[in-house]
Amino acid sequence: MSEETTQYKKPLPRPPEPELTAPFWEAAKRHELILPHCTQCDKFFWYPREACPRCLQSDWSWVAASGKARLHTYTVVRQPANPAFAEDVPYAFAVIQLAEDVRMMSNIVECAIPEDLEVNMPLEVVFDDIDNDWTLVKFRPASEN
Ligand SMILES: [Zn+2]
Repeated sequence: MSEETTQYKKPLPRPPEPELTAPFWEAAKRHELILPHCTQCDKFFWYPREACPRCLQSDWSWVAASGKARLHTYTVVRQPANPAFAEDVPYAFAVIQLAEDVRMMSNIVECAIPEDLEVNMPLEVVFDDIDNDWTLVKFRPASEN
């Protein structure tokens, strides 16, 4: 991993069910977005879990996602709940509608907050290498997709 990553100083919760979600985090480190995909009903789902939430079958696998998305909804955080985020405000906490028809919570980055935000705007995935072990999945404005 690059030595250019800065020391991440924010509280960082560890993923629940680390064995179940490990492939997602390993892919993020490679700057790839993968999602659980049900083999039985041929649909993606999010978040990762033992069984598909639609058909309850446990026959699913990780499949590469397009990284294309739209902004479903968001809020602008102006008062950080934790002092570690004080330098980041205002920032966007958003629900992202992925092209694969699942929704994921993340941040919108690389744009003016809140001026550039508009519901349904096209987004694309970006990867934030916060330290040598973890990469966070975030989104930025994209040209039409
Ligand atoms: Zn299913």
